[in-house]
Amino acid sequence: MSVPMHVRWLQKTAPALPFRLWQKWSGERLFLPFYHVVSDENPVHIRHLYPVRTVRQFEDDLDFLLKHFEPVSLERIFAYSFDNQIFTKPSFHLTFDDGLRECFDVIRPILLQKGIPATFFLNSAFVDNQDLMFRYKASLLAEVGQTLSLNCSYAERHKLDDLASACGLDFRAFLQQQKPYLTIAQIKKMRDEGFTFGAHSVDHPLLSALSKDEQMQQISQSMDFVKSAFNLDYQAFAFPFTDDGINPGQLFSEKTKTLSFGGAGLKADAAPHHLQRFAMERTSLPARAIVSAEFAYTCLRKMAGKHRVER
Ligand SMILES: [Zn+2]
Repeated sequence: MSVPMHVRWLQKTAPALPFRLWQKWSGERLFLPFYHVVSDENPVHIRHLYPVRTVRQFEDDLDFLLKHFEPVSLERIFAYSFDNQIFTKPSFHLTFDDGLRECFDVIRPILLQKGIPATFFLNSAFVDNQDLMFRYKASLLAEVGQTLSLNCSYAERHKLDDLASACGLDFRAFLQQQKPYLTIAQIKKMRDEGFTFGAHSVDHPLLSALSKDEQMQQISQSMDFVKSAFNLDYQAFAFPFTDDGINPGQLFSEKTKTLSFGGAGLKADAAPHHLQRFAMERTSLPARAIVSAEFAYTCLRKMAGKHRVER
């Protein structure tokens, strides 16, 4: 997704003021940044989709966040959402979507070294490299010149498999050789080290394009898998792509005590126990620029009465 012009302008201008001022003016205490991978070389299955943070950029992001916020656990976010335990200090919780191998190889050691908790959202069909997300297939096809495949929707995803056969591209061999996703053993190790996990649907569709029954199936099947495979006593879900056109309040019953997440930026949400996160990967600018811009934008949204996502 490209960065809108007004956001780019804020990214240039907002860092002229100390970040603590934007923090104070915005009145926001909880910040939820999200990423997918950290890698010095953008992996071929992602290269044609979005930029990724290098190790150096990611470490700089974390140093910025640690300077201005306190890292908090997912448990603390549950306490905030379900037991009204407010944050007295500016706090952040890191999340990572899609369950990619770099979460174990690259991100995990950095977070352990800095003592930062994080939650990882998994697609049940892809854990252990069973299959590849259709967008990643499109990126692999774009790499061999089939750039039109980048426009392919979830409903048309079988076309990507047909095109791959025609191009002599073998997704199964790619999965076996590259192992782009986390394995069950890696996830268990991370869980034992204190990291937390949630579901991110079965195979990453745009949920708003599915029927209500299909939406429920994507959610319940992936959440049941993550909960039972890793023996978790909590339920968290991050919407794949976007939660636009969806009412999370109708998809999770209060009884299941599920915490769900979108990616609409630093905004409040009308749906209960549904929190919005901020995408860190849309540009290669440093955290100070993109986070200052988002907090400045939040000040503007609040003034315009547009801070809350209505459902
Ligand atoms: Zn995703």
